[in-house]
Amino acid sequence: MDIAIDTSKSRYQVDKNGYYGRFGGAYIPEMLFPNVDELQRRYMEILSDPSFQQEFEALLQDYVGRPSPLYFAKRLSEKYKAQIYLKREDLNHTGAHKVNNTIGQILLAKRLGKKRIIAETGAGQHGVATATVCALMGLECVVYMGSIDIERQAPNVARMKMLGATVVPATSGSKTLKDATNEAIRDWINNPVDTHYILGTAAGPHPYPDMVARLQSVISEEIRKQLLAKTGNANPDYVVACIGGGSNAAGAFFHYLDEESVKLVAVEAGGKGVHSGFSAATTQLGKIGIIHASKTLLMQTEDGQIVEPHSISAGLDYPGIGPMHAHLYETGRAKFLDATDEEALAAGYELSRLEGIIPAMESAHALAKLKDLPLNPDDVVVVCLSGRGDKDLDTYIRHMNK
Ligand SMILES: *Cc1c(COP(=O)(O)O)cnc(C)c1O
Repeated sequence: MDIAIDTSKSRYQVDKNGYYGRFGGAYIPEMLFPNVDELQRRYMEILSDPSFQQEFEALLQDYVGRPSPLYFAKRLSEKYKAQIYLKREDLNHTGAHKVNNTIGQILLAKRLGKKRIIAETGAGQHGVATATVCALMGLECVVYMGSIDIERQAPNVARMKMLGATVVPATSGSKTLKDATNEAIRDWINNPVDTHYILGTAAGPHPYPDMVARLQSVISEEIRKQLLAKTGNANPDYVVACIGGGSNAAGAFFHYLDEESVKLVAVEAGGKGVHSGFSAATTQLGKIGIIHASKTLLMQTEDGQIVEPHSISAGLDYPGIGPMHAHLYETGRAKFLDATDEEALAAGYELSRLEGIIPAMESAHALAKLKDLPLNPDDVVVVCLSGRGDKDLDTYIRHMNK
């Protein structure tokens, strides 16, 4: 496995102080210092340990079902006149890429001697992935979730409870993800010794962005091998991924960051349109600031209040992006595009009808930009299909006849 690969020479990977260019760091309240400090000191030693890698690999194979296939999408390729491959994270156990990260972090928590796991969740996808691995390992699991989200996401709340997790409603503020995160942080401050906080995306204080990117880097590690076997070249012309906080994109880009011939494309949620007031296109609308203890790009008002994001897909509905991606944007290494709700819906229907694959609404954003890339017939394009669309059927069907 390549998760502990030396990245110290890369311009695009984290530096020894926890920064990507001018983004990143750990802007934490002092009371959180012991928890974050322990992680910073220990995470690379643990990820480098052969016994960790063995256990991680075995679970990814036998429990998650990896390697996920790299599927040549023939009819989609004909339509867009290029060689399009889909990295099938939708076929993972629990239906998305998130489980790669939660498996890795639960193994890390065990090695840190933690007995209790906490997490925050918005739509419930990360909560379910966390509750799943806690059941697998027999650890106590507490998931904080905004009380409004609990009402909106009943099936995922039921899943978490079925899996044995305790779901605690966050009833302050807007009663959504950001408030759930505040509650989780408060819990962690009160339980510094026995509790690990499993963060669900490539954001938050150092070392989370780097740790999550490494745990998800299995995606690009597999793409390289699979593409080499299928085409004779490990490098595609394009890698395309949707981006909420940035974990599936970080995993899909990881081993290509320093291969400058590979064009990296990140697709944000444009919502009802970037300038409609209902959007989550952070690089278009954001400025530098601090969110979840990380210096990065985020959507904020003149006086620094976070602007509520909007997207048809709950997983992209985040007002910031992880610091790695802020740096990829600023350096121009990755191209950032946005897809509107309408474009994503159309792309979701298109993939269903052309390939018999119903994508997650998040992943549909990545697919929606195939039409805007300047593709040549020989270009090899890998789209990270981050998750499956079962959870989004209501949304798809509600918009079917429009
Ligand atoms: C959560 C989620 C995302 C967005 O999260 P990232 O950390 O940006 O990858 C994308 N796709 C699916 C299917 C998700 O569940």
